[in-house]
Amino acid sequence: MSWIPTEHKPYVIAGPCSAESEEQINAVVGELSSNEHVKAIRAGIWKPRTKPNSFEGLGEKALPWLVNAGKTHGLPVITEVANPEHVEIALKHGVDMLWIGARTTVNPFTVQSIADSLKGVNLPVMVKNPVNPDLQLWLGSIERIEGAGVEHIAAIHRGFSYYGEYVYRNVPQWEIPIEFKRLRPDLPIICDPSHIAGDRNLLLEVAQKAMDLDFNGLMVETHPNPDHALSDAKQQITPAALVELINNLKIRSPKTDNPDFYEKLYSLRNRIDAVDDGLFDLFEKRLMIAQEIGNYKKDSGVTILSLERWDQIITDRIQQAEDKGLNPNFVKQVLELIHKESIRIQNEVMNR
Ligand code: PEP
Ligand code: MN
Repeated sequence: MSWIPTEHKPYVIAGPCSAESEEQINAVVGELSSNEHVKAIRAGIWKPRTKPNSFEGLGEKALPWLVNAGKTHGLPVITEVANPEHVEIALKHGVDMLWIGARTTVNPFTVQSIADSLKGVNLPVMVKNPVNPDLQLWLGSIERIEGAGVEHIAAIHRGFSYYGEYVYRNVPQWEIPIEFKRLRPDLPIICDPSHIAGDRNLLLEVAQKAMDLDFNGLMVETHPNPDHALSDAKQQITPAALVELINNLKIRSPKTDNPDFYEKLYSLRNRIDAVDDGLFDLFEKRLMIAQEIGNYKKDSGVTILSLERWDQIITDRIQQAEDKGLNPNFVKQVLELIHKESIRIQNEVMNR
């Protein structure tokens, strides 16, 4: 049973990227408190910024504003800790929950030192995914926190860094939180659409996807005057816009009481199973031919990789895929995987 309530989904954590002033905190928490979905308030006190001379948070002096606003409105407050000193200061001021940021989760030494500082404390801790797409590192950080005896842990999916152009600030790589859920079904998982999207206009589609993947909740950066925020201005929304965002979400249930649904679903799944069987037969057939080609190339002293042939396959198949209405990006990824396996097999044959 998840420690995060599963009724009245989604469980929402909202609040500014950074605490900027007492007025800002009071204004935003006051407005958020009338939103029935908002179950906790977030604000960054110590901000890990990419470049020096950016706003790095106000530090300890901002903590009483956050804690008092939470008390006034009966909402628990959560902030980011990046070292044991942050933990100590946050605890001293009575912060209710802590989160470990993406730039901290990457470092086992730091996470371990935070875990050590949490021994005997047993405050809820949320662990963001590391900036790099490393599921084991994420799981390992959580295990370190569990090792300190912390009982209430949640994971926060905030997407992964990449180099180059992409629609979002961070790549969601949904397969990673899905695998996380498979390996740790006991832990609640919250989506942070703000840091995935990086743009307030894209929050809804990310949040909707998280809801359709049955995430437990959302962490959404909310600011009384987003355009003037001192950090992450583009992705923050007003408390009123948060109400609209939540109202626009379609919350579906993972189960239904309608038995007809399962009957039909069962027959559709059977069809999927049959298609998968067919796919495997085809993979087997294709890879056996690759093996034959490997033997033939070996006997003829010819290299494995033929760029011309690969280029032709990619171009032709993607055209074929487009003609069939298939997503060319999907087809390209499948082909790349098949090609990789084909090369592996030929390599084995040739160097036996
Ligand atoms: C944040 O929540 O403001 C933050 C710094 O997030 P992340 O660690 O996901 O970058
Ligand atoms: Mn932020």
